[in-house]
Amino acid sequence: MNSDLLFDRSYINGAWTNHGLGSFEVINPANGKVLATVLDGGKEIVEQAIVSANAAFKPWSSSTAKHRASILENWNSLILKSTDDLATIMTLECGKPLKESKGEVAYGASFIKWFAEEGKRVYGDVIPPTAEDKRIVVVKEPIGVVAAITPWNFPLAMITRKVAPALAAGCTVVIRPSEETPLTALALAHLAELAGFPKGVINVVVGKDASSMGKVLSKSKEVNKISFTGSTRVGKILMEQSSSTLKKLSLELGGNAPFIVFEDANIDKAVEGALVSKFRNSGQTCVCVNRFLIHKNVYKEFTQKFIAAVSEFKIGNGLEDGVNVGPMINNKAIRKTTEFVEDAKEKGGEILLGGKAIDNCFFEPTIIGNASKDMNFAQEEIFGPVAPIFKFSSDEEAIQMANDTIYGLAAYFYSENINRCWKTAEALAYGMVGINEGLISTEVAPFGGFKYSGQGREGSKYGIEDYVQTKYMCFGNVN
Ligand code: ADP
Repeated sequence: MNSDLLFDRSYINGAWTNHGLGSFEVINPANGKVLATVLDGGKEIVEQAIVSANAAFKPWSSSTAKHRASILENWNSLILKSTDDLATIMTLECGKPLKESKGEVAYGASFIKWFAEEGKRVYGDVIPPTAEDKRIVVVKEPIGVVAAITPWNFPLAMITRKVAPALAAGCTVVIRPSEETPLTALALAHLAELAGFPKGVINVVVGKDASSMGKVLSKSKEVNKISFTGSTRVGKILMEQSSSTLKKLSLELGGNAPFIVFEDANIDKAVEGALVSKFRNSGQTCVCVNRFLIHKNVYKEFTQKFIAAVSEFKIGNGLEDGVNVGPMINNKAIRKTTEFVEDAKEKGGEILLGGKAIDNCFFEPTIIGNASKDMNFAQEEIFGPVAPIFKFSSDEEAIQMANDTIYGLAAYFYSENINRCWKTAEALAYGMVGINEGLISTEVAPFGGFKYSGQGREGSKYGIEDYVQTKYMCFGNVN
């Protein structure tokens, strides 16, 4: 691997800073060993980053969208050229299989490419005036300094999905990556510097104390917006903390995705969709299936085929060939996953496959039959490779079960009947619906949720709206 991409400290105003209050360790989840020791910038570094981003805002926002696009395009190319190295760093620090990490580099870079182009189309309006001597014009302006607080499960793509639209619109950014995966974020900062971003436009702050760093970002008057991906619990904290500065927020929070298989579904396709939408990143994504809802007439066929397919998975270190289930991110995640399984067992759940942790790093892909709504995963997000299977008898029951949650991020269903497809897609209270499809994320479509899954959209033509504000200009006395 190219060690030129490895950095161990925050990147502020175009420089790697020596400021630190000690250090923290980054652990390889596949073996528990220390991967790197990183300088902890603490909250002081966040304050410095805000000053730097604020100073860079005026020149960056006054440059043309075309100029910004050319730098974003450079960044995109450099990231793609470094695919192997970035993917290796990602697998080392978050555990996902190398093939998935490479996929994430392509997916993450696609947002940069997309928004480089979309930034040139931040159009306003000219409105027919209400008087002969008036002219009414609407323009969209960048919102200002944006803080991006990102999780460990997509160390690269959750950053680019936020900062690409922000930068394209003319905003400057302070990125605070998860303390579990700072190395990918720092490598991205290095490539951004090579791409030609001016000093202060992109700042990355690394530190262990998420809560105090988050507090500085949410209470700062100079930060105009926070874009956060993570748990609903932390999303609520950020919203509360941001109220004193009336900051705008984009929140991509937890999910509880249902996956419905109707009796007229193509079961083989449903199993294929189930594999990718449940077990990607060992079940550690917010759009991973949380509940399988299967019609009673196809329950047996689906379950048997699903078990047969999952039994083929190879568990292990994500750097090894052929591994498709990597480690869990940390011990806490293993403990939580074990608790879900134990709770289901106590309440009558049948362990059809797996069910145990291995070496305190991995968790066996697990299938639980006879799931019921009193089990904890009926309401809580699992975030692990556990697939509970519930049975239903009618469309109404399936939809009622699917919507019986505070969350509303992604939902999936399989049916070969066009009427059922339309009616079900409309009835699901979710921001994203996969119809005969288990993989739905793409830079061209809006990613985001209903209800407690958050607010705002990422990707697509809608994604840049979150980083601009609308200004109405009224010209009077035009004679
Ligand atoms: P997850 O369970 O997926 O780690 P979290 O919501 O705990 O979800 O974390 C998502 C991101 O938010 C991580 O970068 C984490 O360090 C950060 N974080 C956690 N608590 C806070 C907080 N109080 N304020 C700001 N960021 C936080």
